[in-house]
Amino acid sequence: MSAPRILVLGAGPAGAAVALGLRRLGYPLRVVSDWRRFVALEGVSQRVLDGLRQAGLHRALACATLASPRRVQWNGEEQRLNQEFLIDRAAFDAALREDLREAGVELLAARVRAVESGADGHRVQLESGETLHGEFLVEARGRQAPLAGKRQRGPETLSLLSQWQQASGPAASAVQSLADGWAWMARLADGRCYWQITRDAAGLPLRAQLPAWCAQRRGESALVRELFGAAALQPAALHARSSTAILFDEASGANWLRVGDAAMAVDPLSGNGIFQSLSSALQAPAVINTLLRHPERAALARRFHQQRVAQLFLRFARTGRDFYALERRWAEQPFWQARSRWPDAEPMHAPADVSQVRIVSAPVLRGDSIEEAEVVVTADQPLGIWHLQGVELAPVVRALQAGELAQALARLQPEPRRLVQRWLLAQGYGPAGRPG
Ligand SMILES: Cc1cc2nc3c(=O)[nH]c(=O)nc-3n(C[C@H](O)[C@H](O)[C@H](O)COP(=O)(O)OP(=O)(O)OC[C@H]3O[C@@H](n4cnc5c(N)ncnc54)[C@H](O)[C@@H]3O)c2cc1C
Repeated sequence: MSAPRILVLGAGPAGAAVALGLRRLGYPLRVVSDWRRFVALEGVSQRVLDGLRQAGLHRALACATLASPRRVQWNGEEQRLNQEFLIDRAAFDAALREDLREAGVELLAARVRAVESGADGHRVQLESGETLHGEFLVEARGRQAPLAGKRQRGPETLSLLSQWQQASGPAASAVQSLADGWAWMARLADGRCYWQITRDAAGLPLRAQLPAWCAQRRGESALVRELFGAAALQPAALHARSSTAILFDEASGANWLRVGDAAMAVDPLSGNGIFQSLSSALQAPAVINTLLRHPERAALARRFHQQRVAQLFLRFARTGRDFYALERRWAEQPFWQARSRWPDAEPMHAPADVSQVRIVSAPVLRGDSIEEAEVVVTADQPLGIWHLQGVELAPVVRALQAGELAQALARLQPEPRRLVQRWLLAQGYGPAGRPG
């Protein structure tokens, strides 16, 4: 039986990572993607670079060499935090495509107009008039993917990115909180400068007035003047993007999967959009492989994908909430009030609680597919932990519950044993395996 043909829509980091993974699994596939229609600069952390390396996106990784020291002015205090890597999205997106071509992935530069889906496959209509067919569809068109199905949305948010050119100088970036939002700004060594304000989508001036309004807002900031000088005070080219956090309730079907921003998009405050899009994409080939090759485990595979996407979304949403809550000067302003309370009041990390430690059956990623295995669920790890560097935890916890922990530990090599003992201590078990 020949392998089903897969269409991947979108060649951003998510689409590219899925395509490379599927290619490695030997699936015939085609990636269809338009080019990004606006200029953008984004800042990424070291873990995005690790994700790109893991995905095999080496040319894209090479675009992120520009490390810039980052200043953060928040709640009236200044911190010179770590550094971030600035990536010019046009160059980055082109490098992703080079990675695909190098891996022998068929890539079509085209805009998708419509998709018709049924149980037997998908018909993808391109703006050129051409129609493509695929038995499986990966939706990776980012925030531009059609909004289908139920979803959760955070506070409605808009980001306005201004860009201008000035004399060359050292690269730098900064974040600054404002009464009605926050601004991210960066300059590249070649003099390209960017300033992005993120705020409530409602209550903005008319579109034609936005460049002047942004210039005026830059004029109010001492940090902007320090970083860019007088050139920043002129109206500049501007692009508006929605940056509302969105999570789809259903990120898969029997013959389709949403990945990256098309499955869930996070608030740009986290600076982790590319990281989260890679995370869902890196697990996707195994999910798709299970849907296609082991349909008896389809429900399990879909559960795996959905749970991980939702869990990651919640983690970023809560991290963002806690960071918004650190800004106290405007805590009662609508922008800050809404975001310091969304998505819920649950703590970022649940404290250790031995009474919550349970063994359950859950989907896990084994090799190239999703299987069911016993995992250990804790208050802080609701999806469960299958193994610690190869040592399955469920048998250890079962031994502990049966009063046979010493024997179970004795069967382990010294290093894995220490690892398991550290984990037990962190859960609140004392040295003898009793609740401490
Ligand atoms: C304002 C803002 C600022 C951000 N800043 C950062 C940041 O600093 N750091 C960070 O890590 N993340 C940031 N992000 C998030 C980051 O941009 C995304 O999370 C990431 O690009 C998502 O990757 P993706 O592959 O899912 O989608 P995308 O990168 O959006 O890729 C989707 C691809 O699909 C193509 N496409 C779309 N529609 C069609 C169509 N109809 N036909 C064919 N192709 C199509 C697009 O051209 C694009 O190539 C920011 C997001 C926003 C909104």
